[in-house]
Amino acid sequence: MTNTGTSAECVLVWFRGDLRLGDQPALRATAATGGPVVPLFVWAPEEDGSEALGAASRWWLHQSLVALEQSLQSQGLRLIIRRGPTAQTLLQLADETKARRIFCDRVYEPARLAAEPALEARLRDKGVSLESFNGSLLFEPGSIRTVTGGPFRVFTPFWRALWNERGALRKPLTKPKGIPAPLHWPTSLEIADLGLEPKIDWAAGIRTAWTPGENTAQERLRRFAQGPVSDYGDDRDRTDRDGTSRLSPHLHFGEISPIEIWHAVAGRPGAEPYLRQLAWREFAYQLLVENPETTREPFQNEFRRFPWRRNARHLRAWQKGLTGYPFVDAAMRQLWRTGWMHNRARLVVASFLAKHLLIPWQQGAAWFLETLVDADLANNTMGWQWVAGCGVDAAPYFRVFNPITQGEKFDPDGSYVRQWVPELAGLPNEWIHRPWEAPPLMLAAAGVQLGTTYPRPLVDHAEARRAALQAFQEMKQAGRGK
Ligand code: FAD
Repeated sequence: MTNTGTSAECVLVWFRGDLRLGDQPALRATAATGGPVVPLFVWAPEEDGSEALGAASRWWLHQSLVALEQSLQSQGLRLIIRRGPTAQTLLQLADETKARRIFCDRVYEPARLAAEPALEARLRDKGVSLESFNGSLLFEPGSIRTVTGGPFRVFTPFWRALWNERGALRKPLTKPKGIPAPLHWPTSLEIADLGLEPKIDWAAGIRTAWTPGENTAQERLRRFAQGPVSDYGDDRDRTDRDGTSRLSPHLHFGEISPIEIWHAVAGRPGAEPYLRQLAWREFAYQLLVENPETTREPFQNEFRRFPWRRNARHLRAWQKGLTGYPFVDAAMRQLWRTGWMHNRARLVVASFLAKHLLIPWQQGAAWFLETLVDADLANNTMGWQWVAGCGVDAAPYFRVFNPITQGEKFDPDGSYVRQWVPELAGLPNEWIHRPWEAPPLMLAAAGVQLGTTYPRPLVDHAEARRAALQAFQEMKQAGRGK
């Protein structure tokens, strides 16, 4: 049994999604009890089933836990690491510390949400309460409704409604100070015992690109809010510029809260387009909570009849950045090397997979979940369904992104391509997004041998577009024939 440092009852704060100390409602509530606090993290990936973290996310989680542990240590606290099963572990620790209350922030992934009632009931049976708070969203899913009380299916009115409610947003909570520690700490695993880091070190590029943790997130936000946010509206689509906040993995792991971001940015010149993107995240969570099956199934039912093609060779070429379309390949290699991809590029590569190659969007979504450091079930599902044309408020199906003109528009001097597809670096701007059209002498001068040093296009753009529209027609006809 653990003796506690004060006479007040010990409480557990269970860190799930929100790996930070600032603006952390569960931690604030825990501190407010005045009792000694035991911070806890439980690793139970088997309970997440197909929603378990991908490899890049596991790498991030390891670093994020290390950062959280350090922050807690600076407050005289520890992070107790245990393996699941979750319910059993929580009960065990409650028993060891004589805690009767567990505080946590809410998570919204379908598998976890579905498991919650049984978890709460098991704890309650043993006299332990689970008290949860919203620490990861501006508004609780379901709290922004249409005038008739239903969920929004279209983003723009959702955004307007959210904007009208902005006065109700709470201010960020400060980090609690002087939280009492227990006299004796329960035993803990080491973070390394969880085996989150890869055995073969493929993460060098990710390590160079990112430093997980609350301090870095705060610093990134500070820099972004002081300058780049004012140009966000103009720069956000340019893959060759550092015009977005790159806060997505920090937000996903809760190293920073959307409330902190909102208040740091709101009121700055040019902030609105940025806040609108944060609202897309809110929209995605609302959709996920209302429609948990959409991580696997198309939101629009008729897309169950879509004639997708399974093609392992094409899928592999897409994953490896070897499609022969430089903009697509640059983006896929940026993802592989750094665990992140620019939003404009995500739109184009997703469209390429689902519309040019007609590969089921779920296979692309799964690759993103495995390789993105910001892999997020809500945002990823919404993004893929939107691009594939089967989501709510989706892009109309006939809108097939042209990977050549998208590159020319959003990477006009080809520097994004040159950075990630160095074998094309010697090509002049005119040909960098369409090397197969370059004169042979030009290719030779740039050291490019199509089919050898760089692939020829996997499919012809115009033909692929026609095939996609044809597939769409087939789906419609199959629907009419029913
Ligand atoms: P910023 O432009 O600085 O935006 C700030 C924050 O707003 C982001 O960090 C993010 O949390 C949110 N946001 C911005 N755009 C979107 C959007 N379109 N939808 C939802 N939230 C948004 N985002 C993820 O966080 N995880 C994913 O797994 C993910 N998968 C995607 C898959 C596809 C096919 C598409 C088209 C988009 C996906 N997005 C995903 C959304 C978006 O691409 C990223 O959030 C964004 O690129 C992250 O970079 P940033 O932090 O610099 O964004």
